Amino acid sequence: MTDSVAVVGAGLAGATIVRTLRERGFTGRVSLIGDEVHLPYERPMLSKEFLTTGVTRDALQVRPMAQYEADEIELVLGRRAIRVLPGVGVQIEGGAVVPADHVFLCTGVRPRSLPVRGSELPGVISIRNLEDAEALREAVARGDRTVVVGEGFIGSEVAATLAGRGADVTLLMGGELPMQPAMGPEAGAWLLAEHRKSGIAVRERSSIRSIGGGNRAESVELTDGTVIRAGSVVMAVGCEPNVDLAIDTGLVLDDGVLVDSRGLTSSARVHAVGDIARFPSATFGRTLRVEHWQHAQQHAQVAAAALVGDGDIYDGVPWAWSVQHGHRIEIAGLPWAGDTTWRRGDPNGPDGALWISGRAGRIIGAVSVNRRRELRAVLRALRRAPVVVVGDAGELADSDSDLRMLLDAMASA
Ligand SMILES: Cc1cc2nc3c(=O)[nH]c(=O)nc-3n(C[C@H](O)[C@H](O)[C@H](O)COP(=O)(O)OP(=O)(O)OC[C@H]3O[C@@H](n4cnc5c(N)ncnc54)[C@H](O)[C@@H]3O)c2cc1C
Repeated sequence: MTDSVAVVGAGLAGATIVRTLRERGFTGRVSLIGDEVHLPYERPMLSKEFLTTGVTRDALQVRPMAQYEADEIELVLGRRAIRVLPGVGVQIEGGAVVPADHVFLCTGVRPRSLPVRGSELPGVISIRNLEDAEALREAVARGDRTVVVGEGFIGSEVAATLAGRGADVTLLMGGELPMQPAMGPEAGAWLLAEHRKSGIAVRERSSIRSIGGGNRAESVELTDGTVIRAGSVVMAVGCEPNVDLAIDTGLVLDDGVLVDSRGLTSSARVHAVGDIARFPSATFGRTLRVEHWQHAQQHAQVAAAALVGDGDIYDGVPWAWSVQHGHRIEIAGLPWAGDTTWRRGDPNGPDGALWISGRAGRIIGAVSVNRRRELRAVLRALRRAPVVVVGDAGELADSDSDLRMLLDAMASA
């Protein structure tokens, strides 16, 4: 019997859990503990329009204050949780304990840092929270030159957004193509060309030796001796899960907190949800940890419902979107794990392109550039099961075929 719940981490997953608990009729005490001072907010815009337009903080809120009040959620914001006491509650900095029979850990991920000289200087920013994005927005408005370190999802997107407003941007890539392995080589080559077309100075195979400057960042020095002037340096070299509390609690970890199909950890009194959790994917026959918006929301809904006795299990198919240079990029399933690719269309054409990935004769993912309807068809198919490719596989690359019908036919063969 659970009378009280504490949710640690006031991000998208945390906000979704407290709402879902009330929607599902949980009437006990619900506390939402967050180390940020803000109400839970949406992060995707932080690397997109928030950087270049006047989007306000309030516009990012997952839901307004009135909703938490109506739901009678106790908000403990601007306070870091320092210990989980299973069955007792959560200790927050300062020593107080928020009482709870059950805890949801939703502490997300934190940006990795590079151990180079100067990385602590003001002007070196990782885009994870509102303050980071505001600092970059101000720097760009001042006309700062920006060096973005890292060509993954966030680095590539930030560089594209800043270039879109005419900022002076250099993108330092460790590899040769952006957003690898997620996008695959063809789509990556297309994106690289788009970056260059928009004026981003892209440098492949670059590694940083140090960041120079007195009171704040002024330049980036590469290991080949090149020095690039920069007023802002965006560090976008990946993230790692915030598992400190989970380690302290003795939870089983595996690059994140290992959970079952309802988000329950190795402790019967602790769930872990969202970016921090590694869950069993029945669809793909492996465990996955997913750092995407939709996953955080849907995982939270299933985990919160499980606490009140709902029998649903979570088997979400990863899906993420990005907007770069006015193009909508979507990634579904596990395209990076494929051994075969079929391309439909042309990323430079009016109907865009879709790369379908297969592995061992099954379709396991897709990447789309402006070809949303077909991406949806793959996603819909994957939600049932990875489709076994039967018949003429070449039809998958025939842009004139109806992909949805083709996948349905393959699935029922
Ligand atoms: C700049 C950016 C752009 C993105 N764009 C996209 C996109 O286009 N598409 C997409 O699908 N996904 C995108 N994402 C990913 C998406 O935002 C995340 O998957 C989602 O926010 C995860 O939600 P979460 O609740 O698990 O974690 P978070 O949103 O990170 O929330 C975790 C919260 O817990 C807090 N916390 C950590 N430790 C403690 C502690 N000890 N005590 C109290 N609080 C703590 C953190 O400060 C944070 O507020 C983007 C992410 C970023 C950063």
